[in-house]
Amino acid sequence: MPEMLASYVAGAWYTAPDEGTVLVDAATGDAVARISSTGLDTRAMVDHARRVGGPALRAMTFQTRAAALKDLATHLDGNKATYHELSLATGATRRDGAGDIEGGIGTTFVFSSRARRELPDGTLLVDGDVEPIGKGGTFAGRHVYTPLPGVAVQINAFNFPVWGMLEKLAPAVLAGVPSIVKPASQTAFLTAAVVRDIIASGALPEGSVQLVCGGTGDLLDLLGGGDFISFTGSAHTASVLRATDAVTKRATRFNAETDSLNCSILGIDAVPGTREFDLYVREVAREITTKAGQRCTAIRRALVPASAVDDVISALRARLDKVIVGNPRNDTVTMGALVGLHQRDEVRGAVGALSRASRVVYGDPASVDPLDADPVRGAFMAPVVLLCDDAARTEPHDIEAFGPVTTLIPYRTTEEAGAVAARGSGSLVGSIVSYDSDFIRDVVTMTAPHHGRLLVLDRDCADESTGHGTPMPQLVHGGPGRAGGGEELGGMRAVKHFMQRTAIQGSPAVIAGLTGS
Ligand code: NAP
Repeated sequence: MPEMLASYVAGAWYTAPDEGTVLVDAATGDAVARISSTGLDTRAMVDHARRVGGPALRAMTFQTRAAALKDLATHLDGNKATYHELSLATGATRRDGAGDIEGGIGTTFVFSSRARRELPDGTLLVDGDVEPIGKGGTFAGRHVYTPLPGVAVQINAFNFPVWGMLEKLAPAVLAGVPSIVKPASQTAFLTAAVVRDIIASGALPEGSVQLVCGGTGDLLDLLGGGDFISFTGSAHTASVLRATDAVTKRATRFNAETDSLNCSILGIDAVPGTREFDLYVREVAREITTKAGQRCTAIRRALVPASAVDDVISALRARLDKVIVGNPRNDTVTMGALVGLHQRDEVRGAVGALSRASRVVYGDPASVDPLDADPVRGAFMAPVVLLCDDAARTEPHDIEAFGPVTTLIPYRTTEEAGAVAARGSGSLVGSIVSYDSDFIRDVVTMTAPHHGRLLVLDRDCADESTGHGTPMPQLVHGGPGRAGGGEELGGMRAVKHFMQRTAIQGSPAVIAGLTGS
């Protein structure tokens, strides 16, 4: 039997006594590990975070926390070869793995260096100026941030087992708040390897990171007003967590990053032959195939001028014909497996549902011939492009196929492009590929309220652009409505999400004594 993944509980590794669930390699179907949280002492975890991890982190200044984070990132960077080997078992190609592993470690470095430049060498974070309140000048107020007194429970999705953890952990550490990390079961073997190294590095004080492998049991029942649930995953799970007593009755802070039907809009000006047309096609093809389309930010709705639909299909076909689906251990493979057979079947089901309103114009959702792999045991799927030319249909704006799938949607006017984009009911990211400043201004104005991030891609920024699907630590990741209504990343603002903002009122002398001016 494969090894059982251990959880890290109150300073010791805990292995569940039962057989648990077997986790398999996405490409080969071979057993990789077992997972179970049976018998996990969740109360001990929460107590340990509150009594040991929290006080130890709060005793450090922002500067010493930032330095610890840099040591941690350096340590993980030295071990990344191990993570890359494990990442292949999640179905990811080496290139996909780099986005997760180097992306996660790089994000940790960025948080550390921004904190060293922007945060004080103290424990209190001042926000804004002194607000004079009394006419006589004897009474004033000022806002400060201090760490939440409890624990941050970080529940992550399967698709970014390293980045997903580190992009939450880094700001929590900087804020001075201990974390309980709960990876998605399917890819927890990779997260667990990184957490083992985090603990072994000694870079962070004991109690600042604990790990749950398997279900959370009654963990959320133990949370209260000083705690934080930070969630990434499906809209369905977010709605379950949002309805827990912890959130509804005890006001545990809750942040959700969920699925979204992100759009990319080809400008009316970007006809075939322009650089923007080529950029658009490259971006859509890349979004479909990176991580086999299993990115929350992937382009699910490709909005193109009606007159350009045929050209876009031909150009996509030319690019997607070159994609080699197969075992990511073969270096010629450019698109790996989905995370598991269940997920592949879900995606096929979603394509079936989308097909009620659209037709498949590229790819066969039901069959694929993967290189160096067994199509029955591995969770492979070919890239699929659909076309929905009935503007009245809701399916492309409602159904998420979390795989290598996108739907082309024709539009006729700038106003229609903005209106169609908004039908996604809130997205993490949208992109506009155009060189027409009027079109860009109009579409940005119409679509910004529906998005957490907007990429305007053109010939001037293409060479340095990080692309539609890649969240950056400096900029907001999150989105309104269907995207969960939450916010992560965005520079040092991410640190404040783990802190309490308090207005301190008193005499100017007291305020100056506390806040330094
Ligand atoms: P999921 O099924 O919602 O699971 C997400 C996480 O929640 C997993 O760790 C899961 O643990 C845990 N979970 C499920 N039920 C729970 C409960 N009742 N209490 C506590 N934890 C619970 O999502 P997924 O299948 O892993 O991820 C795919 C989805 O996530 C897609 O829809 C995608 O769009 C979305 N996503 C969004 C973002 C973003 O940043 N917005 C990023 C990545 C993915 P188990 O695995 O142990 O069940």
